[in-house]
Amino acid sequence: MVQEQIIGRGIGDARVIAAMRKISRHLFVDPGLVNRAYDDSALPIGDKQTLSQPYIAARMTEALRLTGMEKVLELGTGSGYQTALLAELCFNVFSVEKLRALSRNARTLLDRLGYQNIALHVGDGTIGWSEHAPYNAIIVTAGAPNVPKPLLDQLSVGGRLVIPIGAEQAQILIRVSRTRSSFKEEQLGECKFVKLLGKYGWRD
Ligand code: SAH
Repeated sequence: MVQEQIIGRGIGDARVIAAMRKISRHLFVDPGLVNRAYDDSALPIGDKQTLSQPYIAARMTEALRLTGMEKVLELGTGSGYQTALLAELCFNVFSVEKLRALSRNARTLLDRLGYQNIALHVGDGTIGWSEHAPYNAIIVTAGAPNVPKPLLDQLSVGGRLVIPIGAEQAQILIRVSRTRSSFKEEQLGECKFVKLLGKYGWRD
């Protein structure tokens, strides 16, 4: 998976590559899908949600430019796969999931794997998690109609926010970088995610 889908498609960050090699993706999928865990595709994780395609997870993670010191906010814990990836690459992760059952499963698995730098919360992530703000990096793994304003407010100066923005059927991956006086936006390519539902996302 890593050689073909990650390095072969241009992911160059050695830390991201090492983390992808380390984390066993098959632990994060349903027992019935274990033989597809390393496929070049997204996979269902229940409740109509999906575990992102490996390349997309790597691309988004690389775009955050993590060095190991960061406090990161994640929206959409889902299976916890992306959360584990972040936990390998930054100082601590704060991850919000809307669906209690997914968050609970992720907690069990991430504890079993021994991660001690992950805090999980059940709720609407579109309002952010103000208690621990500001964040050096924010990653949203569900598609939004536009960038939720609270996330911009909770991004530190010098911080990066990576989020899929666009219509329900297809989105563009956007990176927003905060400078002292403004926000700079870059487009990183096309993607397709399930909907980010909530106050500053799509309506429930
Ligand atoms: N990154 C996950 C996949 C996420 S799928 C993984 O690696 O498995 C998108 C997730 O976003 C779903 O679990 C969905 O329930 C969640 N979600 C949707 N809207 C949300 C919101 N407003 N706040 C938090 N989580 C949300």
